[in-house]
Amino acid sequence: MLIIGSHVGYKKDTGLVGSVKEALSYGENTFMFYTGAPQNTIRSTIDNQQVEEAFSLMRENDMLSDKVIVHAPYIINLGNSDEEKFSFSCRFLEQELKRVEACHMKYLVLHPGSHVGNGIEKGIQTVIKGLNEILEKDTTNVMILLETMAGKGSEIGSCFEELKQIIDGVEKKDRIGICLDTCHLHDAGYDLTQFDSLLLTLDQIIGLEKVKCIHVNDSKNEKGARKDRHENFGFGKIGFDTLIHIVYHEKLKDIPKILETPYVDRLYPPYRYEIEMIKKKEFDCNLLEKIKKIEN
Ligand code: FE
Ligand code: FE
Ligand code: ZN
Repeated sequence: MLIIGSHVGYKKDTGLVGSVKEALSYGENTFMFYTGAPQNTIRSTIDNQQVEEAFSLMRENDMLSDKVIVHAPYIINLGNSDEEKFSFSCRFLEQELKRVEACHMKYLVLHPGSHVGNGIEKGIQTVIKGLNEILEKDTTNVMILLETMAGKGSEIGSCFEELKQIIDGVEKKDRIGICLDTCHLHDAGYDLTQFDSLLLTLDQIIGLEKVKCIHVNDSKNEKGARKDRHENFGFGKIGFDTLIHIVYHEKLKDIPKILETPYVDRLYPPYRYEIEMIKKKEFDCNLLEKIKKIEN
């Protein structure tokens, strides 16, 4: 069975119930959410009642609650060695892990960070220090999934070797996993048309068992552009066939596939339609036009 969902919203008043309802409206059996707005660190406490309700809703609809992913906000940066910013990121992540646990979720996707001009080595060491400090105190069992990055600006984690170096430095290795992002891999220079050999490389360097989530996005830019601009499924430079091969890859069959593709005209969520197209395994070049007509 295909395990597929998308990034959905999370609002203070409806909480996790709202997120589940949104995912159901797109025909998803899993999803990914932020515990507040992705761009900021304003967070409200998790409402237990809402979580219970969300889980019964998931059960009623055969959703795979153990495959649901939480994403940490973008502005968390464990790679910045500036004392104040570093400790802010650490404190926030400590609390975020507790929120993920309060939601009864198992996985938190994290952008490893940016070295902000201090160099990749220093950046990696700072990330390792942060993760060790956080995990030493942490009492949850949430797994932090380091996301493969596009390599925009001074981003850390745009190649498997850097992620491996971070994992090697972390003491509680069982608490660290990996989240692949197809747009980011492509933008970082990986050739997704050779996905089988990419998986072999990944397996040699990190180990496939570490991969717990995959973001399936197309890219607006050429391979190696280091830009990180997502495109709708099949409409970008990666293309439909390559993405379908990844989505249905035997070695990734138990891993949730999450769409983070852009809203059409910034207004209309494409996920229901993209998922239908993915299930048909047939590219519809008029899909975005259709979405505009239907949703308008
Ligand atoms: Fe991400
Ligand atoms: Fe992503
Ligand atoms: Zn991205």
